[in-house]
Amino acid sequence: MDSKSDILDKLRRSFRSGVTTSEQFRGAQLSQLMSMIKDNEEEILQALHKDLGKPKFEAILAEIDIVINELHYAIDNLHNWMQPEYVTKSLATKFDDCFVRREPLGVVLIIGPWNYPLQLLILPMVGAIAAGNCVIIKPSEVSAATDELIADLIPKYLSQDCYAVVRGGPEETKALLQNRFDHIFYTGSQAVARSILQQASVHLTPVTLELGGKCPCLIFGQVGIAAAARRLAWAKFFNAGQSCVAPDYVLCSQATCDALLPALREALKDFYGNTPQTSPDFSRIVSQRHWTRLTELLKKSSAKVVVGGESDQEDKYIAPTVLVDVAADDVLMEEEIFGPILPIVTVESLKKAIDFVNGMEKPLALYVFSDENSVATTVLEKTSSGGFCSNDGIIHMTLPGLPFGGVGASGWGSYHGRWGFEAFSHRRACMMRGWAMERLNGLRYPPYRDDKLSWLRWTASPKKSCSLM
Ligand code: NAD
Repeated sequence: MDSKSDILDKLRRSFRSGVTTSEQFRGAQLSQLMSMIKDNEEEILQALHKDLGKPKFEAILAEIDIVINELHYAIDNLHNWMQPEYVTKSLATKFDDCFVRREPLGVVLIIGPWNYPLQLLILPMVGAIAAGNCVIIKPSEVSAATDELIADLIPKYLSQDCYAVVRGGPEETKALLQNRFDHIFYTGSQAVARSILQQASVHLTPVTLELGGKCPCLIFGQVGIAAAARRLAWAKFFNAGQSCVAPDYVLCSQATCDALLPALREALKDFYGNTPQTSPDFSRIVSQRHWTRLTELLKKSSAKVVVGGESDQEDKYIAPTVLVDVAADDVLMEEEIFGPILPIVTVESLKKAIDFVNGMEKPLALYVFSDENSVATTVLEKTSSGGFCSNDGIIHMTLPGLPFGGVGASGWGSYHGRWGFEAFSHRRACMMRGWAMERLNGLRYPPYRDDKLSWLRWTASPKKSCSLM
């Protein structure tokens, strides 16, 4: 038996003991997770800086505070979430207790990516703990410093009988996946998701997939171009473009493109100065491998670089870069960019832009910038995406009331806030029947008669008002 199976066996025994199910236990573990983040904020910031050159400001917003806020939200709402949900009854079930009971799934596996290595591992874990599961987390080996820190901290703060960290790259993860889990929550690329799905199918394990894709930003109609450029540049170049919800490309008219370019240059100069490489506020590409992928994309593209384009391999730096004259079949439009490279694709009309978006896979997020409400609502109604935000980027994912997840190829399932609790819960349909109304029940027993059937159909049918109810 290898050590991974040992860990899994220990967690399974703990789950079966029922220790994770009480509200008190779940709340205490969530509070411990909160202490872990708060006590070790400095170490976390250092690890994130080592992995991605992540500025403290961005790390606090997108890794520390988003997790702390989620923890507060879960702790405050845990009691309500755990309550049975009583459902509407028919006349035939009038004296019964009919409710949905949220139950933990068992031992769940959470596999995280490297781009927000703390947030994207711990935020799903909040939902999993709140729902009463035992949890194994598998951080990304690519963000090595954060991986090491998380593996060091989790056992110090959380119950070692119920929660564990397993480390390693693709081979170790594949080995881990040979075991039976009760749920797999995967965040990462579509390519790896296919292999995870194959392995999950062996045990028929349900999965949540938080994937990526090309998130478009449509800019149409009247628009305050300076504010639009600032919001677009912030959302795109935050974390050096390595965000699953970063605007991947812009769709606009030629006239808007002409107005946008000077505004984007201005915004980037304000944000990062004349030499972004020396700015403490601009992240680095996570690894040499990812740096090479991005610079190869730039080399292969036939589009014209109009902002940035500089890179430095040793420093894993790629400047905030904007390209125009981007053909629909350019290499930049083939796959998710996931770096600080922004192609602007010009189209003649909003309708053409919508057709363009609908000709591709459904994105994780879709953005539309316009002063005109009708533009935003038209795009909302005529497209599909995991999330939608008008006149800004990324911000929609900071609200725990909104589900976060993709649709189609950008992901299956969602989390954040109550949605995270739901993702890791089984909704058990419960009917606690008594022995009352046996005469009414007798209608369903043979010998069958038409009059019995008529009565039965009436008692089981939905009624707006019924004096007997
Ligand atoms: P990745 O798929 O390479 O790796 C993610 C995790 O999978 C890591 O823990 C890694 O160790 C593991 N892994 C890698 N190869 C594996 C294999 N063959 N078998 C089993 N496990 C394997 O993803 P990434 O490069 O870390 O992240 C980038 C992608 O993730 C982008 O496409 C991005 O859009 C997406 N993403 C999505 C979200 C979201 O919330 N929807 C968030 C961040 C990133």
